[in-house]
Amino acid sequence: MLQDRFARAIDYLRVSVTDRCDLRCSYCLPARFKGFEEPEHWLTFDEITRLVGAFARLGVRRVRLTGGEPLLRRNLPELAGRLSGLGLADLALSTNATQLAKHAQALKDAGVTRVNVSLDSLDRKCVSQITGSDSFDNVMAGLHAAAEVGLSPIKLNMVAMRGVNDAEIDTMAEFAFAHGYILRMIEAMPMGDTGRNTQYLDLGPIRDRLVARYDLIPEVIELGGGPARYWKTRDGIGRIGFITPMSQHFCATCNRVRLTVDGTLYMCLGQESSFEFRPLLRGGASDAELEAAILHAIELKPERHEFVEQPAKLIRFMSQTGG
Ligand code: SAM
Repeated sequence: MLQDRFARAIDYLRVSVTDRCDLRCSYCLPARFKGFEEPEHWLTFDEITRLVGAFARLGVRRVRLTGGEPLLRRNLPELAGRLSGLGLADLALSTNATQLAKHAQALKDAGVTRVNVSLDSLDRKCVSQITGSDSFDNVMAGLHAAAEVGLSPIKLNMVAMRGVNDAEIDTMAEFAFAHGYILRMIEAMPMGDTGRNTQYLDLGPIRDRLVARYDLIPEVIELGGGPARYWKTRDGIGRIGFITPMSQHFCATCNRVRLTVDGTLYMCLGQESSFEFRPLLRGGASDAELEAAILHAIELKPERHEFVEQPAKLIRFMSQTGG
């Protein structure tokens, strides 16, 4: 079992397979951003599989493929198949779903169990304004395909923004209830200028209002080992999760680290602590040396982020770290 200096068990690895994205969400990637990682620095599927294998031997049980937009990485289902062969308990995918309809079956066949889909609004114009792209129909087709092939559960990630999509929260909740999706509302984090310029909305009062309106009760079982706190309708059919890094952080139970496309392991979304694995992978390191490096890297995991105290600290966008 991997454990950090604060006695937190680290059993969850998020693997970014690209820092590129076909959308430009207002809180994430700047519209004219050009500083993407060079392809020769991208970890290959062999390198990713070898490194994830080392994490798995040390106790990592859950892996999420993310990005950027992971479905932009060619042959992603092939990588998923190789990772699922490592005997993980959970292999999930985060996607904006613009290309999910094309790949859902191959991903399912490769061993991906479930997907989280970014969807901030059900209003086509609002989606275009937030994402910079008329992507709504493709996302809906992607969601439909994911359900058809049995990727389950399907969670909808909604970044809640004051004056942008806060009027749609109830509509989103009812849409999720009706389709059996789990809505997860997320507070915007000050990652890069884009994140900092986002109209932050405290989800505490929103949660209280939704709990009263839909007569929600706290979910006691863990739904994915992540930071979301879940509530459900009394019939157990509808579920809403709240991710509140700003108003009520969850660092004391953080169980994850993040690998970027160039092989840098970030120990915390909101801090700079990192360790580079690419030089080891390309420099002939043995499996034992890789495992020793992972143990060393986990020692660097900081106690908590400082998004509230030092909002200007982080210049990385979410898509660079791997959301
Ligand atoms: N492209 C994939 C997707 O859309 O899910 C994976 C990467 S994306 C960066 C992962 C998640 O990060 C998305 O749900 C997105 O809404 C969220 N995100 C990006 N920037 C954020 C920010 N500044 N604050 C909160 N969430 C953010």
